[in-house]
Amino acid sequence: MTQLVWFRNDLRLADNPALTAACKAGGAVKACFIVTPHQWQEHDWSPARVHFVIAHANALATELAKLGIPLTFIDAHTFSDSIDSLADHCRDNGITALHFNEEYGINERHRDKAIRERLTANDIKVNKYRDQTVAPVGDILTQQQEPYSVFTPFSRRWHSWVEETQPSVFPIPEPQDKAVKPEQYHTLPEGFTDAPPALVETGENAAHDQLDAFLGEHGGHYKEQRDFPALDGTSQLSPYLANGVLSGRQCLIAARQAQGGGGNQEGLSTWVNEIAWRDFYIHILYHYPRVSMHRAFKPETEHLDWNSPGDHFQAWKTGHAGIPIVDAAMRQLNQTGWMHNRLRMVTAMFLTKNLFIDWRLGEAYFMSRLVDGFLASNNGGWQWSASTGTDSAPYFRVFNPVTQSERFDPKGEFIREWVPELRKLDNKRIHDPGGKGGVIPKGYPRPIVDLKESRKEAIAKFQALKD
Ligand code: FAD
Repeated sequence: MTQLVWFRNDLRLADNPALTAACKAGGAVKACFIVTPHQWQEHDWSPARVHFVIAHANALATELAKLGIPLTFIDAHTFSDSIDSLADHCRDNGITALHFNEEYGINERHRDKAIRERLTANDIKVNKYRDQTVAPVGDILTQQQEPYSVFTPFSRRWHSWVEETQPSVFPIPEPQDKAVKPEQYHTLPEGFTDAPPALVETGENAAHDQLDAFLGEHGGHYKEQRDFPALDGTSQLSPYLANGVLSGRQCLIAARQAQGGGGNQEGLSTWVNEIAWRDFYIHILYHYPRVSMHRAFKPETEHLDWNSPGDHFQAWKTGHAGIPIVDAAMRQLNQTGWMHNRLRMVTAMFLTKNLFIDWRLGEAYFMSRLVDGFLASNNGGWQWSASTGTDSAPYFRVFNPVTQSERFDPKGEFIREWVPELRKLDNKRIHDPGGKGGVIPKGYPRPIVDLKESRKEAIAKFQALKD
């Protein structure tokens, strides 16, 4: 018997249901990772994410090799190619059973169904596991056995599920054989070579160190600090979580241990709630596949007549919209592959409400830049901001980016870091350089849109849908 673990969005040894099951099943254990650059391109993956994934797949191969589990990299361009490639690999290596953790995007589901059919026909047993969420998809339902579409009741049920179930994690499996020489993937696929410097260190141990450091030093202050982009108030664990180097369960358990160890209860509970948000959006993706097919969760909003993107979209993307906090955030994204959560909301609302540009374009642009690009959360965040989603901001609640800037970057520190043209402005003017007769510094654009007028127009367009 030879077991094959197919690593995809779960690049870790610890708390990995598929790996654990394969090691328990008996016989030799092998592993594979399929490199599908054309598919990644179709899914708008960023160079930063591809660098992260390849680096972590190499790190995983190194650690697996110490356990006597060889990981093979398979080149397959697209998901449909990967069906043949995986079937050939199983045949050539005498594989008797395949193990993998589920993914919930529609293309991933189609691919997995096709693989199951193909391998089952070849007498290979296919085993899949629910791993991506703390509370397994399908287990958090209303009393009527329906999926939740609003976060607050979902989270109530999620928290009681956590209390009832007390989730635990799987340990790293014991060595299966003598250590082997790890295979490494050296070529960066074409189209993905131009990545920003790595945001976080590579490897599962580095992820755990960052988790421990965050919980020890900042977790207790999370509630008060998490909205201020100039502070180190959030964990920046999202690249690890989005690519499965860390699991939500590991985060939950570590946070609860920190609470048990006397850490600030409120701060840590607020952070755990973010893990619940992550689960919520994955559950939505699972129950409502249309959201991964470029469809709005609220069908009536499909009738909105968005503006054509043109110059405004370009100015937004490049950080030249003339609204300092929006520009600072977009430049942070472009230069690092990451953006603070408060600013993801501010920039997404600015694009969809003030510029009235289709959220799908913003969603794709974020994906093409983010190191933590993750379909469920990115789609959820965009549809929330555009008021087209499950639990969205009501359409009449439009953030004013200048007010947000004054509130969450009061001294303009974040703006100064990313928009050097405005560095010399005082703490008041920096949020709105041309406001109240101010002179806009040379080289910095005027606002490309009137915030008040555009807000009114957007609200009227949403209102018209109702009428
Ligand atoms: P922390 O505040 O430390 O939170 C811990 C973890 O909880 C995060 O790493 C993340 O996994 C999860 N989390 C936190 N907030 C949310 C949220 N609102 N929704 C879902 N999960 C959350 N997150 C992604 O992981 N990938 C994306 O592609 C993504 N795109 C987004 C797009 C928009 C328009 C918006 C509004 C939000 C998006 N988010 C996305 C959610 C959130 O902004 C990031 O998860 C967060 O900023 C990551 O920083 P952190 O690790 O320091 O988070």
